[in-house]
Amino acid sequence: MTRPYGIHPHIIRMVLGAYQVNTYIVRCPETGDAAIIDPGCRSQCKVLLEALKEKKLTPRCILNTHGHHDHVRGNLTLSERLNIPAFIHPEDKFFFLENGDPDLSGVYHSALDIVRDQVIRVGNLSLQVLHTPGHTPGSVCFYIPGFPGDDQRPVLFTGDTLFVGDAGRTEGPGGSLDQLLSSIKHQIMPLPGTTLVLPGHDYGDTPESTLEQEIQGNIYITDFIL
Ligand SMILES: [Zn+2]
Ligand SMILES: [Zn+2]
Repeated sequence: MTRPYGIHPHIIRMVLGAYQVNTYIVRCPETGDAAIIDPGCRSQCKVLLEALKEKKLTPRCILNTHGHHDHVRGNLTLSERLNIPAFIHPEDKFFFLENGDPDLSGVYHSALDIVRDQVIRVGNLSLQVLHTPGHTPGSVCFYIPGFPGDDQRPVLFTGDTLFVGDAGRTEGPGGSLDQLLSSIKHQIMPLPGTTLVLPGHDYGDTPESTLEQEIQGNIYITDFIL
């Protein structure tokens, strides 16, 4: 099978910004509609726009795994340029007002609230929202059980909730280690072991992993949950 997109036939990953955030583009293989997950950098939006154009994708929405500035800085530029909405959990919208950045406060009112158990449709692709508080109160993961017309395995975009071999920090505003562990245990661990784990940063031995590998080797799971 050809893998024109590198990590996955329908997913592009770009590492953007000073904080080296993993920004993902995920597409519906049937319609070419696409979602942009965590556009981490305003100045590098051009790279994203070029990739969308080159792959002939139709961007439909921006999805934020949480409100930390390194994951949302491209929101305003992209939503204006592409005329698409950004979705974020309402409990993380306060981050948009926190640091006085006009780019962030500019999206405060326009960002659409992700609601509990929401399923976001991108063409024929369904992304299920899993609310996974802990790193921040409004952290979410986006779960794709499978791709339409395809037998691809499930995919989970984990933001800063779960990294390869590690998990997100909880010392920041609204953070809670207890909540983080509970989110991993109750929202993430029940998913199929074959699920491809795509984190918000490359902090592990490999840039991506599987849930099975994480359950066996992630210190947060092996030492705090199991
Ligand atoms: Zn974060
Ligand atoms: Zn981050």
